[in-house]
Amino acid sequence: MYDVIVVGSGPAGITASIYAKRRNLSVLIISKNNSAVQKTDKIENYYGFPNGITGKELYENGIKQAHNLGIELVEDEIVSIEFLETFKVETVNSKYEAKSVILATGTNRNTPKINGIKEFEGRGISYCAVCDAYFFKGKDVAVLGSGNYAIHELEQLKPIVKSVTILTNGNKIIENRNVEANVIEKPIKSFNGENKIQEVEFEDNTKKEISAVFVAQGTASSNDLARKIGARIENNYIVVNQNMETTVPGLFACGDCTGGLLQISKAIYEGAVAGLSILKK
Ligand SMILES: Cc1cc2nc3c(=O)[nH]c(=O)nc-3n(C[C@H](O)[C@H](O)[C@H](O)COP(=O)(O)OP(=O)(O)OC[C@H]3O[C@@H](n4cnc5c(N)ncnc54)[C@H](O)[C@@H]3O)c2cc1C
Repeated sequence: MYDVIVVGSGPAGITASIYAKRRNLSVLIISKNNSAVQKTDKIENYYGFPNGITGKELYENGIKQAHNLGIELVEDEIVSIEFLETFKVETVNSKYEAKSVILATGTNRNTPKINGIKEFEGRGISYCAVCDAYFFKGKDVAVLGSGNYAIHELEQLKPIVKSVTILTNGNKIIENRNVEANVIEKPIKSFNGENKIQEVEFEDNTKKEISAVFVAQGTASSNDLARKIGARIENNYIVVNQNMETTVPGLFACGDCTGGLLQISKAIYEGAVAGLSILKK
């Protein structure tokens, strides 16, 4: 039995495990090895790297740091967590038990299956408005999505870009929200361009010129684990107090999965707090 199992090996999970390990707790990290950081070409807004750093390098540095401290890391996917006096954690390949669990599962930036999405990732297709909006200053851009997350991204983009169109790809835009943007609900055939994205083509063969598409479809599944054990979720994010405790005793959450600023610096802060908040039982 571990003192704590940390779910996720992104900035939040690795930081939480470092702080917990240095307090002499037994720590296991379980992770699918699929951090948002690994999708980042270059990070230029994180403290201490005057020339920026690639996401891949930052991620690998974090894993090395955990290894150097002797923290155990298992690459696997968690399919369920149950709470019966202790936490029973089930992965695709095994079962584990811990006195506490820290969820650092990130958020789901769902990739829809539309021609051109994968091809133009980093060349007009973005998953993060706060990170990439500035690159499209004064341009016509689109948000792909139809829910609260899409509207959040729209608000981030509006002060910087020339115009934002919401592309719902055949879905109805969320009700009861006042959306001040051009909304197109037609199904999308493809995103087209040479080297970078230049237009969206709809199933009815009409087209619209755009310089970027910010993908903002749902965030639900990063919360599934927490929801299943009764932790409170609001607006698709796990609710925590200032110690990063969820509403389930012994269950903590940190990083992108708690919402707010979806950035590395915030994930690091919350990971540190979570790692320091675990009580030795
Ligand atoms: C394209 C892009 C560019 C970005 N650029 C910047 C930038 O320039 N600056 C900046 O500060 N931030 C940037 N970000 C945001 C930054 O990457 C995130 O804020 C940060 O990675 C959040 O860290 P995290 O540890 O909370 O989550 P993540 O880094 O996403 O890690 C989540 C971890 O949980 C694991 N996991 C999830 N579910 C399970 C499961 N069921 N079982 C096992 N493991 C699971 C994943 O495999 C992963 O290891 C960018 C993000 C993207 C996508």
